[in-house]
Amino acid sequence: MNPALIAQLRRLGGAPQVLLDPDELVAYGYDATMGYRGAPAAVVMAETEAHIVDALALASAHGLPCLARGGATSLSASAVPPDEALVIDTNRMRRITDFDAERRRATVEPGVVTRDFRDYAAARGQFYAPDPSSEAAATIGGNVATNAGGPYAFKYGVTRDAVIGLRVVTPRHGLLSLTRGADDAVIDLIIGSEGTLGIVTEVSLQLRPLPSHRSVRAASFPDGESALRVVAQIMASGITPAKLEFLDDITVESLERSRPWGFPREAGGLLLVELDGDEADVREEGVALDKLLRSAGGGMDSVDPVRAERWWEARRGITASLARIRPAKIGEDICVPYSQLAPTFAAIKQAADDADVVVAIFGHAADGTLHPNMLYDPSDQEERDRAFSLLPIVADAGLAAGGILSGEHGLGRVKQPFIDRAYDPPTLNAMRRIKRAFDPDNIMNPGAMWPTEPVEAHQ
Ligand SMILES: Cc1cc2nc3c(=O)[nH]c(=O)nc-3n(C[C@H](O)[C@H](O)[C@H](O)COP(=O)(O)OP(=O)(O)OC[C@H]3O[C@@H](n4cnc5c(N)ncnc54)[C@H](O)[C@@H]3O)c2cc1C
Repeated sequence: MNPALIAQLRRLGGAPQVLLDPDELVAYGYDATMGYRGAPAAVVMAETEAHIVDALALASAHGLPCLARGGATSLSASAVPPDEALVIDTNRMRRITDFDAERRRATVEPGVVTRDFRDYAAARGQFYAPDPSSEAAATIGGNVATNAGGPYAFKYGVTRDAVIGLRVVTPRHGLLSLTRGADDAVIDLIIGSEGTLGIVTEVSLQLRPLPSHRSVRAASFPDGESALRVVAQIMASGITPAKLEFLDDITVESLERSRPWGFPREAGGLLLVELDGDEADVREEGVALDKLLRSAGGGMDSVDPVRAERWWEARRGITASLARIRPAKIGEDICVPYSQLAPTFAAIKQAADDADVVVAIFGHAADGTLHPNMLYDPSDQEERDRAFSLLPIVADAGLAAGGILSGEHGLGRVKQPFIDRAYDPPTLNAMRRIKRAFDPDNIMNPGAMWPTEPVEAHQ
């Protein structure tokens, strides 16, 4: 970055801290995705909305690529900066600026950590539903940018369903203040746009009443396919699980190797199910669910709330535990219709065998999401190549099943190359026009998510 630009960055109103030391910048070249790395030119540690507005204006004036960074838990490399980019870090913007329990609404800065906010709300008798398994590190701003979901997504919705207002700064239109109801079209473009249209500076959220009762059980099956067939049965039965998570045998083994959680090691496929609501509903649904699971041949285990919390802690730790099998991984997150869960699982396991790659599969089954994780040893270049060769195969398996490329992690840089497999040329062109309408010079997180090349000569 040239010295004049650095001086200008340092003179931004309120003088935010600017990181330029290559040793410090290294950490900002990564997110949670393995195998992807960038080399940013500078990081602005934003503390106020004005810092973000001014930094983006400077980037716009100089055509400098830039991107927002929250918890850097992205699994699609969407928070890996392009080389020479300006990173705008929101982690110092952690204030909950308004909390109205009576109207069940809150307003937060983008760097508020998701679990901190969920705990803050729960301590005040309120339920903030979006619960990505990364909640201990992910931020609300990052959740908005990726439209994060989580185990609760099927029953209570994803981040989009909780957002009732946004402030966002865009290269073309400056600072926008958007309200649900009046500005839905723009709000819904910003949510899930992976920081490619603008930077979210404030989020207003809808809260819910905390469910009064819950009950949790595990059901184990001889193999992954039979467990996933039961998912389709549960979802067709009229039971509304608060959480319904699927874990295959490799995932269970990795968890048990990391800590003795008490999952049945012999399980070929495991379902973890939570029901919630008022006492009578939970009891009634529990009876129906147990009957269905037993008649499907599932070995059952119901647990008390303390053990249940340990199970959910284990579930949140799957990504880390997979290192017990191989040191590195590349994760997919396709989403398919319930009837296609079992056949898609089988097709991916077959491809894994053919490629001689260990693939662990788990996911928020109530959403139809499957996370095939291709495990590899980075010191073994051939194994790494074989693992990465499965990325397009998994994407195609999801699309062939009538599904979508991403259930929750977004396309980022990992799945951007497959976007033209999912959409036809007119749709891709419409997407490129939308991107230009907000970011005509393509400075916002370039290379992530959007189709990059013209798909028709006639634009
Ligand atoms: C162990 C683990 C489990 C996970 N489980 C889930 C899960 O259950 N559900 C799920 O949906 N995801 C999950 N993820 C993926 C990830 O946590 C989510 O995508 C999360 O929403 C990212 O938030 P973040 O603050 O870390 O964003 P980052 O990783 O920092 O950024 C992600 C994207 O958002 C953009 N961004 C960040 N802040 C802003 C802002 N203020 N304005 C505009 N753009 C911004 C970035 O530029 C980037 O494109 C998981 C990840 C891990 C590592």
